[in-house]
Amino acid sequence: MKQSQLFTKTKKESPADEISKNAELLIKGGFIHKEMAGVYAFLPLGLRVIEKIKTIIREEMNAVGGQEVYMTTLQPRDIWEKTDRWDDKKVDNWFKTKLKNGEEVGVGLTHEEPIVDALGGYVSSYRDLPVSIYQIQNKFRNELRAKSGILRGREFMMKDMYSFARTEEEHLKIYEEVAQAYHRVYRRLGIGHITYRTYADGGIFTKKFSDEFQTISGVGEDTIYVDEEKNIAVNKEIYTDENLAKLGLDKAKLVEKRAIEVGNIFPLESKYTDALGVYYTDEHGEKKSIISGCYGIGVSRTMGVLAEIFSDDNGLMWPESVAPFHVHLLVLGDKEEPQKAADKLYADLVKKGIEVLFDDRTGVSAGEKFADADLLGMPYRVVVSERSLKDGGYEVKKRTEEKGKIVTEDELLKLLKAKS
Ligand code: ATP
Ligand code: MG
Repeated sequence: MKQSQLFTKTKKESPADEISKNAELLIKGGFIHKEMAGVYAFLPLGLRVIEKIKTIIREEMNAVGGQEVYMTTLQPRDIWEKTDRWDDKKVDNWFKTKLKNGEEVGVGLTHEEPIVDALGGYVSSYRDLPVSIYQIQNKFRNELRAKSGILRGREFMMKDMYSFARTEEEHLKIYEEVAQAYHRVYRRLGIGHITYRTYADGGIFTKKFSDEFQTISGVGEDTIYVDEEKNIAVNKEIYTDENLAKLGLDKAKLVEKRAIEVGNIFPLESKYTDALGVYYTDEHGEKKSIISGCYGIGVSRTMGVLAEIFSDDNGLMWPESVAPFHVHLLVLGDKEEPQKAADKLYADLVKKGIEVLFDDRTGVSAGEKFADADLLGMPYRVVVSERSLKDGGYEVKKRTEEKGKIVTEDELLKLLKAKS
């Protein structure tokens, strides 16, 4: 991609109406566009990050047998009445709207009801189970506060999976497999070492805990207590002596931290399947309840978390697994020689399958190009200039390092290939 053709431009000034670092950096860099509080559009650079996050999640959900679907945003009232989640007194962050005939419809904020309802059309026998179904799409929640940029949106992207099993034992096996898949997702996103599986409240209809995945960050809304040795945490909302004893955690070993919930998995028992009348018949012809679980990951929130964590005073520092491009190639000066060399290098890199953002703009100072490279945060910056050519090649520098070095094209290809 040539930067001269990218319709977005970086901004020098921080947006006046944003207090969160993720929104500030992402808006300055042209990754996202703010429509209104809590509602953001994703622009070319931002969409590339989102798509990479989605690919990682998709691969890991497919690896544990997830089947992808795409449910609807508009929701009929009746299925939500069956589970008693339609009334605004029960669920207070619904967006609702009306059809021309006056009938009320909901705007999807989660999808247990429609998934279970659809499943009922296909599953009736023990032979049809277990199954796991997931989707990645936008959710809508009328959040009271939306001041944390894309960490808390009123419209946001979520991956939500739902598992359906014949027995509690079968359910638990799937639940654990998905929990492990979550660890792999966060590891691949570069936040595995600061993301903890965290015991949390299981909701109103189960005595079990749910498992949140919490990433340590000073801007987090949640307080958790981490046991570093066991690599596990407990949310403040259930932090009682009784619960700690139940979980086998030693209070003296727990360290208090602020964290952001990047995912959440729940045992649902048979609450939704029973309420919507979806059962299966076992080997003996007996009608049985279906045990389910639900598994969410905040896709856009996770991008915000990455922006919060992987950044410095000058801008973003994307991990290689989600960076919009691996290399930011800069040509300095408007002379013919470096221009030609950079054009050739760009073509060569692209041919080798390396994703390159090429700052080919003319009439832009070196200082401005360097500042943009820091702000946009590609893992590698490669500079072609009269001086680099005189020194024998191109200057390559990692975004996370202070100093670059001169390499030949072969050395550069090796370096990038080894890394990509
Ligand atoms: P929170 O406790 O942060 O309000 P939640 O418990 O209501 O979130 P879930 O319904 O479990 O969230 O949704 C699954 C995941 O979706 C969450 O773990 C979080 O990462 C993400 N998420 C939830 N609400 C939002 C939001 N308003 N904006 C962005 N991401 C969100
Ligand atoms: Mg939650």
